[in-house]
Amino acid sequence: MFFVDLRKMPKVTLRKLGRHKALGMAHIPMDRRLRCHIEIDSRLKGREKFETFLHEALHLALPDLSEDEVLKAARFQALVLWSEGYRHREKPVSTSQ
Ligand SMILES: [Zn+2]
Repeated sequence: MFFVDLRKMPKVTLRKLGRHKALGMAHIPMDRRLRCHIEIDSRLKGREKFETFLHEALHLALPDLSEDEVLKAARFQALVLWSEGYRHREKPVSTSQ
């Protein structure tokens, strides 16, 4: 049984995940004191990136769901929210040196 503390924001990392044949990954640490971790392929854009964030967050929120259930729910939420105009806004890059 997995335990995820949903009051804590997971750590989010963007990097190339090609080697893992995945668009994103969700990690739940065995040690409950540690934060969960979401990794997203840094090459993703637009709706695919949006859906992948929803997908990985859902794995953390409801860890007992099957991969098919997570795929189905995240795809549907992405469809509804995207059609309502929700988009990923890139975080501003710091220009200080
Ligand atoms: Zn998945």
